[in-house]
Amino acid sequence: MTDAPKPMTGISEFRRGKLPKIDTADAENFINEKEIWNFIESTKNPTKERIQEIIEKSLNKNRLNPDEMATLLNCEDPELIEQIYEGARTLKERIYGNRIVLFAPLYIGNECVNGCKYCGFRKNNTAAERRTLTMDELRQETIALENDGHKRLIMVYGEHPMYDPQFIADTVKVVYDQKSKNGEIRRVNINAAPLDVEGFKIVKDAGIGTYQIFMESYHEPTYKEMHPTGPKSDYLWRLSAFDRAMEAGIDDVGIGALIGLYDWRFEAMGLLYHTIHLEQKFNVGPHTISFPRIESAIGTELTEDPKYKITDDEFKRLVAILRLAVPYTGLILTCRESVELRNEMIPFGISQIDGGSSIGIGSYSKRDEESYKRSQFVLADSRSLDEVIAELSEAGFMPSFCTGCYRKGRTGEHFMEFAIPGFVKKFCQPNAILTFLEYLEDYGKPESIKSGLKLIEKELEKMPESEQKTKLEERIEKVKQGERDLYF
Ligand code: SAM
Ligand code: SF4
Repeated sequence: MTDAPKPMTGISEFRRGKLPKIDTADAENFINEKEIWNFIESTKNPTKERIQEIIEKSLNKNRLNPDEMATLLNCEDPELIEQIYEGARTLKERIYGNRIVLFAPLYIGNECVNGCKYCGFRKNNTAAERRTLTMDELRQETIALENDGHKRLIMVYGEHPMYDPQFIADTVKVVYDQKSKNGEIRRVNINAAPLDVEGFKIVKDAGIGTYQIFMESYHEPTYKEMHPTGPKSDYLWRLSAFDRAMEAGIDDVGIGALIGLYDWRFEAMGLLYHTIHLEQKFNVGPHTISFPRIESAIGTELTEDPKYKITDDEFKRLVAILRLAVPYTGLILTCRESVELRNEMIPFGISQIDGGSSIGIGSYSKRDEESYKRSQFVLADSRSLDEVIAELSEAGFMPSFCTGCYRKGRTGEHFMEFAIPGFVKKFCQPNAILTFLEYLEDYGKPESIKSGLKLIEKELEKMPESEQKTKLEERIEKVKQGERDLYF
């Protein structure tokens, strides 16, 4: 007689699903390792003139080509590196202004069938405590996040048959449906394992914003070494995930690489190749790019001293170069990085950061010591959302919870901010002000209120008198009177 299967924690309300059938017959391997190394080798020792020419191309709103990105990656001279930083700062200021979009990650479950060597959730990591939120716990987590003032989430899932498309869709709907006082989640993005086209259609119908997934390493031999078991071991299945997502109608996708698994310059080129592939095949590039660095994870030796660890200086270069290479994308910097580094890097073109993040399963509603055992890795920035907001506004950055484009059906808003003259002034800046004011009215503490109101006033002073400004001022009054969710 066989033992009856043990019930899984938290999963009882959800049916047990299936992993998608891996089919890579139509998948294209657009990462040409030899070609990437040739670009990196053939562009060594760039001149000052060449670097200036490339930065100018980017400032004129053009995506860079692989040889141009490789040239920037080859800059070692401090003077040239400073020029790259200056170019990235100028691009951010000129095109995107001072807004920073805020979000939080929400971990749904850490059951996983894969063997990713760097991740605390990998299948045979006995140090990790396995948990999946119940519907009720998910509601509690959502309420806790809403009570902190969040409006935008990224929901994160391990790879497991129970986290099938219907489960993902159900959990997304639970979050959208849960309101707390004036609080509501207005945009849910997801970070979940690659699905098949049918699966992507199901999660799209649940109303997700961005579908995000990281390639981890674009270098195939490294990828294979790092992912020895489980469906994730198939390089092509993962590389082609966005092709299937796009086929299913999800045109808002976020790419990324886990920095520290292989040479960071190669990974930067991989991100660019991926961008070019999506542009060429679907006529739309990625909405965001992420570049998480490996952090220490429970029971995971590899994370203590990654072989291709990059220094803070190299990391700054990577971000500034990505800003210049793909000027139309959003760049995401997470709480994996320290407060100091985050503050230093935001001006280089970061457009989104998380704040007040907690990555243990169920740890927003119950912040206990034990949650570390259910966390994927350790965060370096543990400030509350309000502390992040107070510091951002003090430094002149406008925190934004805007979800206007997504809800008005203007998809790919980051691209529109970039491509349409006047878009930022017409939509993004006013919506940032309105959502920030909502935050201050409902959740602000004395410090954030003081610096926040001052910043809003300064922004309004900068705006020339116009019909648009009058409309904004009317809406500001309405928010002060208690109306919510006003946007252009
Ligand atoms: N299970 C899905 C997957 O692997 O794509 C999605 C969720 S996974 C938890 C999200 C991301 O966390 C991974 O893509 C990986 O880049 C990142 N990650 C894993 N271990 C990490 C570590 N030790 N430090 C920093 N990021 C890590
Ligand atoms: Fe599982 Fe994702 Fe962690 Fe890999 S990175 S072990 S797939 S949760």
